[in-house]
Amino acid sequence: MTSPISIAIDGPVASGKSAVGRRLAERLGVRFLDTGMMYRAATLAAIRAGVDIRDEDAIARLVSSLEITVVWGDAGDRLLVDGRDITDELRSPLVDGSVSEVSAVPAVRSVMVQQQRAIAREASIVMVGRDIGTVVLPEAKAKIFLTASAEVRAQRRHRELEERGQPADRDEVMAALSHRDKIDAGRDDSPLKPDDDATTIETDRLGIGEVVEIIVSKVESG
Ligand code: C5P
Repeated sequence: MTSPISIAIDGPVASGKSAVGRRLAERLGVRFLDTGMMYRAATLAAIRAGVDIRDEDAIARLVSSLEITVVWGDAGDRLLVDGRDITDELRSPLVDGSVSEVSAVPAVRSVMVQQQRAIAREASIVMVGRDIGTVVLPEAKAKIFLTASAEVRAQRRHRELEERGQPADRDEVMAALSHRDKIDAGRDDSPLKPDDDATTIETDRLGIGEVVEIIVSKVESG
């Protein structure tokens, strides 16, 4: 049996990571994991448990007690926390508002990274997040860093919210996105940044299919 291959895709909020990663995984016939969903699951659990988001020790204790399971399915992957499917609740504005604070806690990251590495050992995968190329899978076959201007990313996020029936104010969307990017790129543990050997792709003027093709040729030539 050949050993599984991994492709790492990182980038800021709404840079197209999930759409590109999912399509790429389909194209290559491998699994797809959006690691942001795991940090969101931890955040939702903390909110539900009434834990103070600024209390790092309490957050760390809670997260290490959670059982987070990814269920791989044809109709999309689902995330279970302690056996309960919470996938549809992870993209709420409430979670958006606290997820970067929770994700900056080193003990939370260490739990997630261990689990993500174990998943990558099971089968070939496209994994997307903020620290996949730099920390989680430094040996990935290809490391991609997606970027786009703040305006385009805010537009994409705004459209996404509308499609989900959560209309939002454009300025608020831009402010929320900048807030998260600032914390994600400025934290001490595993800040958002391209790894030295990552390929950066600017996606302002590229469609999902075009970005996927660029990555496929990179994977095939490497
Ligand atoms: O990708 P998404 O926007 O759903 O991620 C939500 C948050 O989870 C990010 O803003 C970031 O704080 C955190 N995250 C992270 N490391 C990852 C994936 C996500 O810190 N690998």
